[in-house]
Amino acid sequence: MSDPIARMNTLVDELLRHNRLYHQENRAEISDLEYDARFRELEALEARFPLLVRADSPTRKVGFTAVAELTPFTHEIPMLSLANGYHKAAPTWGDAWEDIVEFERGKSDRPGGIRRILGDAAPAVIAYVVEPKLDGLAMELVYQDGVFVAGGTRGDGQVGEDVTHNLRTIANLPKRLVGAPRGRLSVRGEVLFDLAGFERMNQEREARGERRFENPRNSAAGTIRQLDPAQAAGRPLHFYAHSAGLHPDAPASHWELLAQFRAWGFTVSPLCRRCEGLAEVIAAVQDIERARAELPYEIDGAVLKVDDVGLQDTLGFVTRSPRWAMAFKYLPAQVQTRLEGVLFSVGRTGQVTPVAQLQPVRVGGVTVRNASLHNEHQMQRVLGLRHGDSVVIPRAGDVIPEVVAAVDEPGREAREPVVYPTACPDCGHPLVRSLADEARPEMVHVACPNSFGCPSQVEGALRHFASRLAMDIEGLGEKLVAQLVAAGLAKRPSDLYALAGRREAVLGLERMGEASAQNLLDGIEASKARPLERCLLALGVPMVGESTAKDLARYFRDIDAIVLADVPALDAVPGIAETTATAIHGFFADPGNRDEVARLKAAGVQFVPPPAPASGGLSGKTFVLTGTLPSYSREAMKARLEAAGGKISGSVSRKTDYVVAGADAGSKLDKARELGVAVLDEAGALALLGE
Ligand SMILES: [Zn+2]
Repeated sequence: MSDPIARMNTLVDELLRHNRLYHQENRAEISDLEYDARFRELEALEARFPLLVRADSPTRKVGFTAVAELTPFTHEIPMLSLANGYHKAAPTWGDAWEDIVEFERGKSDRPGGIRRILGDAAPAVIAYVVEPKLDGLAMELVYQDGVFVAGGTRGDGQVGEDVTHNLRTIANLPKRLVGAPRGRLSVRGEVLFDLAGFERMNQEREARGERRFENPRNSAAGTIRQLDPAQAAGRPLHFYAHSAGLHPDAPASHWELLAQFRAWGFTVSPLCRRCEGLAEVIAAVQDIERARAELPYEIDGAVLKVDDVGLQDTLGFVTRSPRWAMAFKYLPAQVQTRLEGVLFSVGRTGQVTPVAQLQPVRVGGVTVRNASLHNEHQMQRVLGLRHGDSVVIPRAGDVIPEVVAAVDEPGREAREPVVYPTACPDCGHPLVRSLADEARPEMVHVACPNSFGCPSQVEGALRHFASRLAMDIEGLGEKLVAQLVAAGLAKRPSDLYALAGRREAVLGLERMGEASAQNLLDGIEASKARPLERCLLALGVPMVGESTAKDLARYFRDIDAIVLADVPALDAVPGIAETTATAIHGFFADPGNRDEVARLKAAGVQFVPPPAPASGGLSGKTFVLTGTLPSYSREAMKARLEAAGGKISGSVSRKTDYVVAGADAGSKLDKARELGVAVLDEAGALALLGE
């Protein structure tokens, strides 16, 4: 090849074309081997001429640069939402489609209806485009002279988040448009998982001992908002184009716009159809619904758009929605299948919950094998479940849906009712029922009280402790937790910190090499420096999620203060309700839990308090602490006052500004009174700290 630069360009164009064929038309003109050979040739050339690497080169799909945080992405033209219409569960055909008919004709007693708005300008037959309403993440892509330059989420319609780095990893998202106009152009659509890929990805995650993703839509959102595009690159995301934002050369109809998108290289749903009049619209909406179960992605309705752009402009907008389009939502579809058994699973807190095991059934493109039965009340009273029942589950987006009904069929009375076990299915310990509450039977729960001896609970607690939002212990996945528990190396989270001294035992675990053992021990060591709020989350205090943990950490700034706080003190924390306060107090009143906090501290976990508020409002003030404060240790109060700029002194003098006195304060309090120094109780000190 005489001209390497020209060869690079040819290779990029060729590889992009093959990618497009493969991902959009599902066909290949060259073998994988040939593809790889060209790919490697391109890589080699690019390594020689790094400055000439094209922005849209397929080699740039891997090794994207991570971003430090997501930055705002401003839509040059606001991304509007669509008005909704609903399929009615109506007895007659016409009524079921009422909202569609009204969309065109309006209703006698209400304004609206595009025909009435258009008046004489309305054609005899209005043409529409009907499209599936993809249940993904709305996205805008910006192209400059046909090259993909940026993309962002919809956000509030005005400003979203810039996720360009992850969008670049989507294989069917064209990085360079074929024959697009010059200048700036924005294309809108949905990013979503293809369901087969989603299921495959979940199987791979399970095989690696990772948790399954529950819902394609949420996982797509999570993936697209990752900071590191290497995470997104391996996942089966797709982009479907459906409308334009900025368009310097827009065609006169929506149907032509979709054709243009296809020609440029975008994927457009093949279910889109142009319809003349309402009867065709309703037929198209029904066709899409029929195709729904077998679609490779999730949809939750159909979108109707007036095809003629001139009519669209006349119709305009009402508040934040176009008058010329509507989203029509389908009834949640249901499927029936057979109950094969009920599994009683023991959670981290010992709670036993029933899970229906089903004859596998396809729901929204996903194979469902399990469904939630929620609790004893739901299973026995509401559903009256019997072995071998035919059950109904809604076609929800979730991979684990719920059983909503058992079918009343002949001979059902003869079947055995499903009953709750009396012993823990995991450790055999007798189960306990929380007190029956006649008013709220769904709140009664059944639990195994054997917290530290029940493998499911021990594993659950360890997994939760090590999880990303809690102690974030690298290298400690689900499989390893199970191994540690089975080997008797960990009964409670604090035992993890003793593993450093039992290296040989760790190395003795199955498939544990020197490197992974070191990785695990390093991860455990690093977790000692986690902030207080994460430690609180890690302990698994009931009703304490991420935000409550933050509230507690910010307010008390000290683990001992939290452990010792009574209900009123906890209730005083902004953002914490009394029921939560009671639950937190109950948790820390348990000697086992107090003991665990002590063990963690002894093992070197620091429960690092959050950085002090930058006020420094107490600078120059001198404090003396005396007596026992109701919810703070003296050290914690000292740290708080110092953080706010105060100086702590050991003895009371005329220079002392405040004495903070608790119960059993002695001579220092007397001295303060004698000298006329201001005396504060704990609440007074907190008020001074601005709380
Ligand atoms: Zn148990």
